[in-house]
Formats: sequence, C-alpha cells, structure tokens
Amino acid sequence: MKKRLIIAIDGYSSCGKSTFAKMIAKELNYIFIDSGAMYRAVTLYCIRRNFIGDEGVNTRDIINELSSINIDFIFNPDTNAHETFMNSENVEIEIRSLGVTSHVSRISQIPEVRTRLVELQRSIGVYKGIVMDGRDIGTVVFPDADIKIFMTASVDIRAKRRFDELNAKGLPVDFEEIRRGIIARDIADENRDISPLRRAEDAIVLDNSRMSVEAQMNWIRDIIDKKINAG
Ligand code: C5P
Repeated sequence: MKKRLIIAIDGYSSCGKSTFAKMIAKELNYIFIDSGAMYRAVTLYCIRRNFIGDEGVNTRDIINELSSINIDFIFNPDTNAHETFMNSENVEIEIRSLGVTSHVSRISQIPEVRTRLVELQRSIGVYKGIVMDGRDIGTVVFPDADIKIFMTASVDIRAKRRFDELNAKGLPVDFEEIRRGIIARDIADENRDISPLRRAEDAIVLDNSRMSVEAQMNWIRDIIDKKINAG
C-alpha cells in the first residue's frame, strides 16, 4: 500500500490555501480539513451568544462554553464537498460572512480556544492521509508533517480573489474594505502571542501571485511523488 502522508498548508488569508488543499485531497483521496473553518465556527457561536461586542471579547464566558461547541465536517454529495457543522447545524455559508471574518482573529488569539481546536485537529490526523490548511499546521498542529507548504501572494491579488469569491456568492462587498480586512488579519495572525503565523523552517514557500491552480497542482504533484516514492 502506498505511503499515506500528512500535508500541512499554512499561509496568509485568501491565498487560496483551501482551494489548493481541497484539490490535493481529492486527487490523493485524502481527508481535507479547513482548520480556519473551526475558528470561524467558534467565532460564529460567540457572536450569537453576544460574547463579542464593541467593548471587547468576553473571554471568560467563551472559555466556559467551549466544551458546548461541537464542530464536524460532513460530506454533502450535492456540492461534492465537506461542509462545516456547528452543534449539528450547517454553518458553512454563515462562517464566511464579513461579520465572522472581522472577528475571527480576536477569537483565535484565546489560548484555550487554540488548545481545544488543536486537540481536535490532531485527533483527525491520527489516520494520516490528510491535507489540513491553516496558520499553525506545520509549526504546531503537525510539526512532523510529511510535507509543509507555506503559501503567500500579494495583498492586492488576495483582495481581488476574495472580492470575486464573495461577489460570486452574491454577498455585498467593497474592495477597499476587503483589502483593509486582509491587512488587519495578516497583522493580527503574525503578531499574536500564541502560535503566530510563521513559516516552519522546513516548509516550502509557494508564492502563487502569478500561478494558475493547474500550475500549482503540477508543482505539488512532483513534491508528493518524491515523498511517496522515498518510502
Ligand atoms: O483560513 P481562514 O481565513 O478561514 O482563517 C480564519 C482565521 O482563523 C485566520 O485569520 C486566523 O485568525 C484563524 N486561524 C488560526 N489558525 C489556523 C487557522 C485559522 O488562527 N490554523
């Protein structure tokens, strides 16, 4: 039987990490886990419970209720993709809203939130044959991952991609607001105290500013083949 790998994909917001990770998982018949969706689901829960407001974040209540937040990824044959469920409710669309997006970096800074989600992510990884994308997958969640990719692209290109994506979903969007949001999230993700976004020393950098998805797939196929054949 072919060696099954853990592939960690980290990088900046809106670099196309999930699209890339999903395609790799599909090709290899691996499980794909979008770890950002987990942080988004917790954020949605906090918004609904009014734990996030203008005055700040009610960290104590969030921590108290963490064990009541269950997150699953369930396959939807209609969309041919796994969708995010929070406490048995399909929240795949809602977790991508601007409201959740603008608060998620604050929630992902809470150490207890990270500990719980990392635990969950590792438990999914025990079976191998997994592609997981996020910010700390190669550094914290799976420091021994077989392949680590660190993705980046220019801010303008990322903002344009995100704008097109939300536009296509019919969501109201403003380019400048999206651009500002991406810069703010980069800063928050890179500068938080716990598990900040950074490239693992052994991660391979992929700057996809000028690369098509197909070109990215050709690039990674080569890396995967070498890894699998190395035994
Ligand atoms: O990948 P996505 O943009 O959906 O992630 C949303 C947010 O979740 C990130 O901006 C980051 O604050 C947080 N996140 C994280 N660690 C991960 C994945 C996401 O802190 N592994």
